[in-house]
Amino acid sequence: MALLPDGLLEIMQCPKCAGSLAEREEPPSLVCSLCRIAYPVEEGGIPVMLEEAAKPLDD
Ligand SMILES: [Zn+2]
Repeated sequence: MALLPDGLLEIMQCPKCAGSLAEREEPPSLVCSLCRIAYPVEEGGIPVMLEEAAKPLDD
């Protein structure tokens, strides 16, 4: 199941490095593999693209 509406992920980019993002379902987030951080996606599919809100990847 996609977190974001069709086509949105393709135009999203990491605000830190401008890299592309990947969806992760648990917890709902967009992951930047370069920065190793995950931006949370709120209910309704609204991504929070703020460095302050991002969580470091722990795996
Ligand atoms: Zn990044």
